[in-house]
Amino acid sequence: MQEPLLDTYLHKGLRQKLVDELRTLGITNETVLNAINTVPRHFFLDTALERLAYENRAFPIAAGQTISHPYTVALQSQLLEVKPYEKVLEVGTGSGYQAAVLAVLKAKVFSIERQHELYKQMNNFAYLKTLNGIKRFYGDGFEGLPSFAPFDKVIVTAAAPYVPGKLIQQMKEGGIMIIPVGDEEQQMKKIVKTSNGYTEEIVGKAHFVPMLSGKQR
Ligand code: SAH
Repeated sequence: MQEPLLDTYLHKGLRQKLVDELRTLGITNETVLNAINTVPRHFFLDTALERLAYENRAFPIAAGQTISHPYTVALQSQLLEVKPYEKVLEVGTGSGYQAAVLAVLKAKVFSIERQHELYKQMNNFAYLKTLNGIKRFYGDGFEGLPSFAPFDKVIVTAAAPYVPGKLIQQMKEGGIMIIPVGDEEQQMKKIVKTSNGYTEEIVGKAHFVPMLSGKQR
């Protein structure tokens, strides 16, 4: 993450091409595509990666973590069926890119990060401050944010070993959680909270860094 940066016609053109590619890959939600077209992904990466920022690839960020593929961000956002003013809990702030896309979708985002270095880096991220509706927390996503519950939606952006019970508890009935589960072989799951538990559906494969418990200084 480097600032200040410019969002030039070159970046905008590359972003439009990325959006066209996401469309061919099956992203159909125009609001989500518009959000991808709005957020300058190169702001979230090291300047050395500026020109590559609009390739459909994951990249390293600080603390040995990664910014997700644009396709993954678009897919999780689409599956989440975000509506304006919904409260969305994100586990794994990372670069802040997914949180920014959710904020452009007008969600009220509550994003947790366990790596202090990443959490701190976000404090000075001017672009993120221009977006309304992102609250960030340094903590362990397995615990969720009980004092801000219930959430309409939950998005987990690290591979969980199982569906965390506390996150289910903190959802509204009818709420959706999109979560990658597994370690080497990961499955993207769509969870819907019901009156007496939840339903789950496998919606694809995933490749995320692991969801780890506890905080990291
Ligand atoms: N959403 C991010 C993806 C970052 S990669 C983005 O758009 O860039 C996953 C992130 O999840 C990493 O930053 C990792 O530190 C974080 N993470 C892993 N386990 C976690 C946990 N239990 N609680 C909070 N964050 C966690």
